[in-house]
Amino acid sequence: KSSGLSGGLNSDNGGAVDAKNLRVKLVLLGDSGVGKSCIVLRFVRGQFDPTSKVTVGASFLSQTIALQDSTTVKFEIWDTAGQERYAALAPLYYRGAAVAVVVYDITSPDSFIKAQYWVKELQKHGSPDIVMALVGNKADLQEKREVPVQDGIDYAEKNGMFFIETSAKTADNVNQLFEEIAKRLPRPSPS
Ligand code: GDP
Repeated sequence: KSSGLSGGLNSDNGGAVDAKNLRVKLVLLGDSGVGKSCIVLRFVRGQFDPTSKVTVGASFLSQTIALQDSTTVKFEIWDTAGQERYAALAPLYYRGAAVAVVVYDITSPDSFIKAQYWVKELQKHGSPDIVMALVGNKADLQEKREVPVQDGIDYAEKNGMFFIETSAKTADNVNQLFEEIAKRLPRPSPS
């Protein structure tokens, strides 16, 4: 029985498996070059590949994590090219997504503005109970920071999002990002 499921989890590409093993579609959004691919590669492969090229199309990876309550969460991660030329396709891409991770680069105010655009898009087209995270990446580049931490915190709070700063380069907070998302997922009620 799936009456306890959220629309986001109970998606047409699978949704939750059962109360203990969740499967969720996660979409990544953000300006090109903010480090979306690097965050995913760090999370899935434990690597940082500085030669990683700018994303030119959607790619797909999955990774399962175990939580302390012995729940497992399998993230099916869609790394879009969140660029303008895909904007018309974006609503298709969000469909069935239980989680959206909106990424900006702390050294790029433009990317922070673009992140806010994606948040508005998600509010318009995403599932109403989508879990949204705002991620300030490249936190290792403190000396080049142009987006104050507090701006990220404030914007996320206003929009009901989880906020974290990460570095795909040093691995700082990357696993934490996905763990915190997992904890915030609506749980199907046991049948
Ligand atoms: P995407 O277009 O958002 O997928 O961005 P990429 O993952 O391709 O990364 C774009 C560039 O930023 C690459 O040259 C990466 O090496 C660099 N990069 C990504 N994450 C970090 C990070 O946390 N710190 C630093 N210093 N560079 C990063």
